[in-house]
Amino acid sequence: MSFNVSKIREDFPILTQKVYGKPLVYFDNAATTQKPQCVLDTIEYFHNKINSNIHRGVHSLSVESTEAYEQARETVRQFVNAKSTNEIIFTSGATASINLVAFSFGEAFVGEGDEVIVSEMEHHSNIVPWQLLCERKKAKLKVLPFDDNGDLILEKLDELLTSRTRIIAVNHVSNSLGTVNPIKQIIEKAHAHGVKVLIDGAQGAKHGILDVQDLDADFYAISGHKIYGPTGIGALYGKQELLEQLPPWQGGGDMIATVTFEKTTYNQLPFKFEAGTANYIGAAALASAIKYYQRVGIEAAVEHEDSLLEYATQSLQAIDGVRIIGTAKEKTSIISFLVGDIHPYDTGMILDKMGIAVRTGTHCTEPVMAHFGIDGTVRASLAFYNTKEEVDMLVGGVKRVKQMFG
Ligand code: PMP
Repeated sequence: MSFNVSKIREDFPILTQKVYGKPLVYFDNAATTQKPQCVLDTIEYFHNKINSNIHRGVHSLSVESTEAYEQARETVRQFVNAKSTNEIIFTSGATASINLVAFSFGEAFVGEGDEVIVSEMEHHSNIVPWQLLCERKKAKLKVLPFDDNGDLILEKLDELLTSRTRIIAVNHVSNSLGTVNPIKQIIEKAHAHGVKVLIDGAQGAKHGILDVQDLDADFYAISGHKIYGPTGIGALYGKQELLEQLPPWQGGGDMIATVTFEKTTYNQLPFKFEAGTANYIGAAALASAIKYYQRVGIEAAVEHEDSLLEYATQSLQAIDGVRIIGTAKEKTSIISFLVGDIHPYDTGMILDKMGIAVRTGTHCTEPVMAHFGIDGTVRASLAFYNTKEEVDMLVGGVKRVKQMFG
């Protein structure tokens, strides 16, 4: 059955917009995806009909709000195939999920002289929290390098892993190179040394059906706004037996069992890690996005994106002077490139005038840019609502940029 993109596009109101009088071509999906109507409807319905703070009320609206929030947790559990909803913590996004682990796991398990490994292709969100931890604990940050194609050099991991390694933090899919990392293999290697693994799934959750149990991931961070949900909501999956051992990372309402001035006891999982009023409307809207994505068909969506990636790669490569940054063996939906020595910012600005939205710059991965000795790239990132015709427009746009710069 062919993937009906034009039908799918009808679900995304924003895609009918014009920019500078040109139809919007939205290729900035790695930064944030657009939201289908059902997600927008959930947000509106919630505000109009059932808005009430969760977990604290006996009145009907509060009960309904709470049920919607907890059902959303079940939807995320099923989406990642966790064993229990106790293993799903709602956060404000992937960044918060990673900071939670860096703080709480760090408090429990990382001490002076211990080591943390991140990869060279991490988003700053998966570098800086670990640097903060290492500074706090006098621990050491080690870096797993990638080669010039953008493939992690896995053999180096064997050298980096020592008896002092406590955790490896690595992304599932690189947001600037598009590399799909062999996370199952990394987890296996780490576990053979008794080392835990956090997967930054900000981009990975949009790359096929997730199964944290099959991966045996210890932690998996998810971002709502990158999987067709709203901003300000995300989730952390953590193995229950591990989460049980971690201290809370923020204090406040909802995360407590009892409070006296002498001693506070903490709530059970998952609430122990959810201090303050949760973004329950965001959670419900995220659940709506996940269900929509499942209805579209995750595997079919990925297949469509992969075929667009292949087409875009071939078409861009055929333009003299275009250099693709990130040519890993396994890639998905992200294509970073440079057009001759034209600054990415100039390319992005001109494409914008044609209605084409791409991202330019370092993509919060300065070490990746340093690896290639460049200031930044132009990044086109795809979603299942993108079309071949849009790729053609991008390719036409890039040719025009080249002409304009002589
Ligand atoms: N990690 C990666 C690989 C990302 O691409 C991003 C978003 N650009 C993040 C982390 C941060 O995610 P969030 O916006 O949910 O905090």
